[in-house]
Amino acid sequence: MSSIVVHNKTFIPYLSEKEIIEKVNALAAQLSEDYQDKRPLFISILNGSFMFSSDLFKRLTIEAEICFIKLASYKGTKSSGQVITAIGLDTDIAGRNIVILEDIIDTGKTMNHFLPQIYNQQPRSLKIAVLLHKPEASVYPLHIDYTCFTIPNKFVLGYGLDFDGLGRNLPELYQLQEN
Ligand code: 5GP
Ligand code: MG
Repeated sequence: MSSIVVHNKTFIPYLSEKEIIEKVNALAAQLSEDYQDKRPLFISILNGSFMFSSDLFKRLTIEAEICFIKLASYKGTKSSGQVITAIGLDTDIAGRNIVILEDIIDTGKTMNHFLPQIYNQQPRSLKIAVLLHKPEASVYPLHIDYTCFTIPNKFVLGYGLDFDGLGRNLPELYQLQEN
């Protein structure tokens, strides 16, 4: 892996595809154990979570369902602070065992905005699974049930995560070079 330039910014290699898939594999095994006979409904938050959700979901060995919603709060490399629901939930979640799939928890604002909407619909249980967590950036305290990687407070790109629309197709993760 070597450095890449996206929109004039340099990104350095951070986590390889192999490292990511190993963690996703382990998480899928854990969820398959924890949700055996519970037919969980996974709610994947677009856009950033599509690759993580796909890689995780196809590795589950239990009965499970998945649906997608679209929330957005980022512009460029900084959170805009405002959460917009671009595509809402179209599935009945009352009485269901819900697992939310998120690419990254940064300030926690997106989750903080979304969780009450879920609780209001009275799921049987609700857990959060994330690929990446930046605890240093936390503004809205949040309990995260499953985390693949805890990372420092630096902007990352790749594996579904973009920088102004680009970079989502990269199979590995890169970190913004600071200078
Ligand atoms: P939060 O609401 O927790 O501050 O931010 C969550 C959302 O912001 C994530 O779902 C993701 O889309 C975006 N985000 C946060 N940190 C990063 C980052 O380092 N890189 C990219 N590409 N997106 C990020
Ligand atoms: Mg996201």
